[in-house]
Amino acid sequence: MTDGLEFNVLAVDCEARAGRLVTAHGGIDTPCFMPVGTSATVKAMTPEMLVKAGAQMVLGNTYHLMLRPGAETVKQMGGLHRLMNWPHPILTDSGGYQIHSLARLRKLNENGVTFKSHIDGSLHQLTPESCMETQSLLGTDIAMALDECTGYPADVEVAEESMNLTTKWALRCREAFVSSPGRGVFGIVQGGMYAHLRQESAAALKKIGFDGYAVGGLSVGESRSERVEMTQVTSSLLPMEKPRYLMGVGKPLDIIDAVECGIDMFDCVLPTRSGRNGQAFTQWGVVNLRNARHKTDQQPLDSHCPCPTCTGYCRAYLHHLVKAREILGAMLLTWHNLYYYQDLMKRLRNAVIGGTFAAVADELRARFSWV
Ligand SMILES: [Zn+2]
Repeated sequence: MTDGLEFNVLAVDCEARAGRLVTAHGGIDTPCFMPVGTSATVKAMTPEMLVKAGAQMVLGNTYHLMLRPGAETVKQMGGLHRLMNWPHPILTDSGGYQIHSLARLRKLNENGVTFKSHIDGSLHQLTPESCMETQSLLGTDIAMALDECTGYPADVEVAEESMNLTTKWALRCREAFVSSPGRGVFGIVQGGMYAHLRQESAAALKKIGFDGYAVGGLSVGESRSERVEMTQVTSSLLPMEKPRYLMGVGKPLDIIDAVECGIDMFDCVLPTRSGRNGQAFTQWGVVNLRNARHKTDQQPLDSHCPCPTCTGYCRAYLHHLVKAREILGAMLLTWHNLYYYQDLMKRLRNAVIGGTFAAVADELRARFSWV
């Protein structure tokens, strides 16, 4: 294996792609969905459950891990894969987004960002160089360059300044990243809701040259049409032969839209967070297990779903667990929701390979129009 990641596009249908990404910890079929494992755990799941749900790669949050247990500690424990007993691929984000959304007293300048931990108020600094170093200590397969997530809505001047900072940081990240076989770094396209800024950002990152490219700054409050337009504009400018990742998106409908634009990778807290809140994704819509109508319902959550939750448990039991705030309720619903998302990705992938993407996407859209 040579330095960096191996990625092959196996089929293209319209703009949608089916591919295979190979990292130091194994391969991933794309388009793929990465469950979010914020603090070295996908909440309520064991690694065995994740594998059974069909997950091939998880996402770790650099911000959370650098604060607790600390990147040095993770390194000392043999790296993130070993620590969390997940021997499969891991992508870590840069920490930038969480600093933006969680940290206190954030101070940003060209060198980097200084912030106070939301856990204990301790002072930390993240620069492009320390961001690469931290992700390297974690032992990630795919590191993300440090970016500044442009707020929404943002004036064009603000979006441009923010995008330019992201570009400068991207160059420093690329230079600081130490390449090795099966490990790579992705650049993040910003530019707010302005097509010309997205184009400028994508062109600059392409010139620097990354192992993959992410579309950042979406799912921040924009409309569906703005999201699709920005994804489409950005995706069309990215190199064909590199993976494309749409960060933090989203609902099943958003994923279908984005795969249609040529996106290969996704992450979102929705299936896991909904599961912990008593909500399940089914073919008929989102089912809220708190609802009293499930109290004596002996039917499974989704009679067509072959997941362990649907084959083993009835709605009445799930309703009871959720009402009683039992841990098992969160586990079983998260398990089903992740299975549901992985199944969606498989359907989209098979449609691209079979040359039936447009028809399958339309059918799925009609079915998912409620989510
Ligand atoms: Zn199920």
